[in-house]
Amino acid sequence: MNLVILEPADFVEADRVALRGRRLEHVRDVHRASAGDSLRVGIEGGNIGTGSIESISGEELVMRVELHRRPPAPLPINLILAMPRPKVFNRLLAAVASLGIKQLYLVNAWRVEKSYWKSPRLDQANVRRQLIAGLEQGCDTILPTVHTARFLKQFVDEDLDRIASDTTRIIAHPGGAAIQPNSGAVTAVIGPEGGFIEEEIALFRRHGFQTMSLGARILRVETAVGFLAGRLTTSM
Ligand code: SAM
Repeated sequence: MNLVILEPADFVEADRVALRGRRLEHVRDVHRASAGDSLRVGIEGGNIGTGSIESISGEELVMRVELHRRPPAPLPINLILAMPRPKVFNRLLAAVASLGIKQLYLVNAWRVEKSYWKSPRLDQANVRRQLIAGLEQGCDTILPTVHTARFLKQFVDEDLDRIASDTTRIIAHPGGAAIQPNSGAVTAVIGPEGGFIEEEIALFRRHGFQTMSLGARILRVETAVGFLAGRLTTSM
């Protein structure tokens, strides 16, 4: 936890918070912080700053906070991701949030197993938990919005042009042109573990998406997300 994320309910005064539970335990057991120490803090959806610990016990952590800096600029990438298998779902959500991606679209594909859509990991509470973990990691306070689309063709035909308007459109697919840094906004698509089928690639192509290679090696989906974000933004 590189940033302690605060919620409005944590405030006991305008500039003082009291924390219990997971965040208290982390600060106490991992940071091993004590009264007088300072922590990086941020209010969910708002500014980042410093928390000065006034007291910490097994029950409660009290900090005086100053929140004067804006969170980092979002990464200008809309990410469309074929629904990953439950085992990697949580890691992907946290990775997306820590990278600064703010719009995530989880879509169906031929090689996505139907059972993935029934995973309890899709519950709002779990999704929020993983996104918060990613923000804590990346020192950001703005939660990504996660959208789901069970019907790929309908999503592509009805929603995609609006989502991708004024952005460069790319689909990561082995064998495409090498991916290049991009100074503007991008809508990027990453496929399922088994890859997209040709009909799906053709569907995206009809909407102006260009296939791009992430190199000679086939990457796992979670690695592909980080690689793609890094490659697209190397000029930042
Ligand atoms: N066997 C699949 C194939 O050949 O398409 C591999 C799928 S890969 C594990 C999952 C997704 O990550 C792919 O659909 C693609 O979007 C992306 N990906 C992984 N490695 C890639 C690479 N070297 N170039 C382009 N995309 C890649």
